Amino acid sequence: MAEEEYWDAIIIGGGPAGSTVARYAAEGGLSVLVIDARDPIGSPLQCGELVPTNEEMKRLCPNVPEMDDLFRTPENAISNTSKKMRVVKPNGMGMEFDFEGLVLDRVAHDEALVKLAASKGAEYLLGNRVKRVEEDSVLLSNGVKLRGRVIVGAGGHNDPIRKRYWSEKSLNIPVKFALKDGNHSDALELHFGSVAPGGYAWIFPKESGSNIGLGIQRGASKGKSLEVYANHFIDRFEGAETFRGAGYLPMSGTIRSFVKGKYMLVGDSAGMVLPSNGAGITIAMIGGRIAGEVISEHINDGLDLKEYEKRWKIQMGSVMRNSKRAFRIGNLMFRFPDWVLNIALNRLTKGMIWRAVTCRRVFWLF
Ligand SMILES: Cc1cc2nc3c(=O)[nH]c(=O)nc-3n(C[C@H](O)[C@H](O)[C@H](O)COP(=O)(O)OP(=O)(O)OC[C@H]3O[C@@H](n4cnc5c(N)ncnc54)[C@H](O)[C@@H]3O)c2cc1C
Repeated sequence: MAEEEYWDAIIIGGGPAGSTVARYAAEGGLSVLVIDARDPIGSPLQCGELVPTNEEMKRLCPNVPEMDDLFRTPENAISNTSKKMRVVKPNGMGMEFDFEGLVLDRVAHDEALVKLAASKGAEYLLGNRVKRVEEDSVLLSNGVKLRGRVIVGAGGHNDPIRKRYWSEKSLNIPVKFALKDGNHSDALELHFGSVAPGGYAWIFPKESGSNIGLGIQRGASKGKSLEVYANHFIDRFEGAETFRGAGYLPMSGTIRSFVKGKYMLVGDSAGMVLPSNGAGITIAMIGGRIAGEVISEHINDGLDLKEYEKRWKIQMGSVMRNSKRAFRIGNLMFRFPDWVLNIALNRLTKGMIWRAVTCRRVFWLF
């Protein structure tokens, strides 16, 4: 690759957000380069690996068009399908809900997104870290400089454009998880209470074994580390541990603006995670499609890049607003002692809890 080569769009990060931007921008005929520090992208795993099925996504995000075109999860990336979600109280009792979910092989899922974008003409530069972005230049840690008409920050919660050019802060919740052999549950499970203060723990059964993990808010954890909570929860379950990973989930919802001049943020870097349930993969892809299409219309027809924010608000504004509100309510509620939660999570509140988790209005007025 020649130094100072000019691209229509340079995308930092080739996860679900970046690869989806690349797919749609390349489909619009643009020259697109994705730069990722990892090689291969998606590895090592950092995920609970749960996404709603396309049908469930259509119910959760009714204003998002053409979901079947956006989410083309290949069979080899699906480890298990489930139709049941169980919310488990501190006393171990569960409340069951209908929920269609796919437990992924996330590494295969992200690989498929890379292949799809590449099939549209996007190019990838892997194993290269972006050190800095200045004006239209992207500087790599090996000294190479590349130039782009539009530069997209899809580098997750630590994205270099977000860090340097946006002052707004997000709440990043630390998360740990493990893959364990064995049969641990017949449903997707979310556990609340002192098991994961300010967050939740999960068990997502795979074709073989489960993905088990949790996230906490440090302010609610009474000085105990995430490691202690994670060991305590994960060690409850029998079976050999085949992998352990960690990461951060941005949980304050989207930031106020995603566009500054020729810079755009998408996915985790823009806070595109639903805070009431931690869903980030599909949401990053919804943002990625809008961003990719807008970049293509910007380069081809002069459309204002700010159109990206307008289209996001039309498609996801109310879902994100409800999810943020539900997270704030949950934040108060899940600080209660376990005995209060055992009483508060009951048949009468069951509907409200589910509305909160699935980003609908919890109460009539708000
Ligand atoms: C432990 C854990 C469990 C989760 N579980 C779920 C779940 O079950 N379901 C769900 O929907 N979501 C889950 N999430 C959230 C989900 O993983 C993210 O929301 C999603 O990956 C966001 O996609 P992204 O493309 O924005 O970022 P990422 O997937 O993080 O991709 C960012 C990419 O940018 C690259 N990058 C970063 N900085 C640079 C740089 N300076 N130079 C070059 N490359 C760079 C990285 O290498 C990476 O490949 C979980 C997150 C964590 C941490």
